[in-house]
Amino acid sequence: MSLPPIKRVLLKLSGEVLMGGQQFGIDPAFVAELAKEVKAAKDTGLEICLVIGGGNIFRGMAGAAAGMDRAQADYMGMLATVMNALAMQNALEQIGVHTRVQSAIQMDQVCEPVIRRRAERHLEKGRVVIFAAGVGSPYFTTDSGAALRAAEMNCDALLKGTSVDGVYDSDPKRNPAAKRFDTVTYDRVLADNLKVMDASAVALCRDNEIPIVVFSIREKGNLARVLSGEGVQTIVQDN
Ligand code: UDP
Repeated sequence: MSLPPIKRVLLKLSGEVLMGGQQFGIDPAFVAELAKEVKAAKDTGLEICLVIGGGNIFRGMAGAAAGMDRAQADYMGMLATVMNALAMQNALEQIGVHTRVQSAIQMDQVCEPVIRRRAERHLEKGRVVIFAAGVGSPYFTTDSGAALRAAEMNCDALLKGTSVDGVYDSDPKRNPAAKRFDTVTYDRVLADNLKVMDASAVALCRDNEIPIVVFSIREKGNLARVLSGEGVQTIVQDN
């Protein structure tokens, strides 16, 4: 099973990859490395939409577990994703990649609101569009935001760049015998609760036939390898 031809992708990066080697926050040097990966992919002619999580700064669930109101904590998480988006925009523009940030929570002084037709125009003009603040509502994650934007923007695939090199049948950090899937169906992911993305994001991709590619973004050059079909990855799609 391989990917269909890809012209436009949505690249979802977990917030934690922006930490580089740190335990928290944003490592500008590592964000610069990530930006180079994005540029290399863009230079092959791809149209790129980006969604970045906020887990390196704040997660609503963690706030709620510590006694905060969940919705309030989730809004803080969404604001964290905007900070990450601005950091990535900065890094991309420093290497000459024109970039626009569109946020699902309006904040006119720092970025545009999400306007699909305007985003289309940006892509046509060769700009990278970073969608921030997830879906703009609490009780969701940026995975759901990524699936939603991938559907809305007619992306050919959702690439999830994370710290692990694919989807395993159990947690590879705890179980050394865990096996990585080369390919797996959406229904298996949902039935076995495999750690890919949250269930609503997987279901949205399934219903809109958007393949999900899970790979490690921490290794240099991996994004380009995955896009050329040579990298280590797991593809989630129907048989
Ligand atoms: N969040 C939210 N609604 C959304 C997207 C994000 O409430 O549509 C909040 C939620 O609290 C989440 C946090 O923002 O924990 C950061 O996003 P996420 O956990 O998806 O980041 P990642 O794990 O990808 O770094």
